[in-house]
Amino acid sequence: MAVRTRVAAPPRDTGSQKALRERNIALVMTTLRAQGPQTQAALARASGLSTGTVSSIVRELEATGLVATAFAISSGRRSVEVRLAPDPRVVVGVDIGRTHMRMLGWDVGRRPFGEAYTTLEPGHEPFDTLPLAAEMLQRMLDEHHVDRSRVIRCGVALPASLEPGTGRVVQASVLPNWAGVNLMSALRDALGLPVVLENDANLGALAHYGVGMQSGAHSLVYVKVATGVGVGLSIDGVVYRSSSGITGEIGHIPVVDNGELCYCGNRGCLETLVSTRRLVADLKRTRPGHAWDVAEVVRASQNGDVMVHRLLYDAGVALGLAIAPICNLLSPDVVVLGGPLVGGGRPLLDGMVSTVRQRALPSATAHITFALTDLGDASEVQGACLLALHDALVR
Ligand SMILES: [Zn+2]
Repeated sequence: MAVRTRVAAPPRDTGSQKALRERNIALVMTTLRAQGPQTQAALARASGLSTGTVSSIVRELEATGLVATAFAISSGRRSVEVRLAPDPRVVVGVDIGRTHMRMLGWDVGRRPFGEAYTTLEPGHEPFDTLPLAAEMLQRMLDEHHVDRSRVIRCGVALPASLEPGTGRVVQASVLPNWAGVNLMSALRDALGLPVVLENDANLGALAHYGVGMQSGAHSLVYVKVATGVGVGLSIDGVVYRSSSGITGEIGHIPVVDNGELCYCGNRGCLETLVSTRRLVADLKRTRPGHAWDVAEVVRASQNGDVMVHRLLYDAGVALGLAIAPICNLLSPDVVVLGGPLVGGGRPLLDGMVSTVRQRALPSATAHITFALTDLGDASEVQGACLLALHDALVR
């Protein structure tokens, strides 16, 4: 006699059903990517899925904006054609400096969709600037009809050393009122979006690796001369970061014995000789009665002002004192000079290169391309967009 045993129905395995559904969705997306737009029936044949499954997946993908459908006539019959929708995801780069804030929006193909700029008061504080950033961001998105749900990451550049992980400002000589602030959470709260942060010189290096004339350089040093002097280093597109968060502080390399007192407490630091502050102060002293600021220095240099050329060249010579040992240490492929003085042309770069040639090993420097940035004022903000894309899509 056969013994009949009662077998309990297995519990619904929702986990494996979900995994199967995800596999089928991936199959439909892969087929559309490889073979282009096609009818639902053709998609079912190509993917090996039933027409019912394809139809349900297409409905779901259309609701999330990943595919678009249209009625078409195929073999004399009305059918639904399916195509990949343009990727709706975007990132936003934000560059916050001592006296400016700049924003740039990119789609995931690195195509810009919008930009914004404002000046800031020197000595601005995060609790004023962050709400302003949120307002600027929303205005930029509204102007370009981009729903904020499409923003997958904000990359933020700051002229400060940031503690890895928390984004706490560990050193902020350019933004003194930002010291100690945990920027990761402060920015996330203010912008209401996922955020990734980085030092601005590091992002300048990343930008030049990713876009522009020096893109793809194996080892690239980005030198930013602004209110302070900082360096970022990119090796095959990966920015060098230390565990302390402090890197590239070449502005505090002593280059003059018993020189001027620096705000860091040392004497003769590079920044006591080279910075926009120092240049403007020197011009105000030697040519009083003229309203000198950075824009005026750039304009005078463009107009061939001999004294301004001399000051920029001498600043470059001093800068070279700190760059020469870096060239001996790293022998990079490219050294790019950026910052607001670059608009004034070559004197700053020529001064720097002359010192490097004198003081560094010829064999370490012969192959180095020394160049002015070709990204204008937008290096840092483009680096912030690249970082955001990488953080959201690759990590
Ligand atoms: Zn110093």
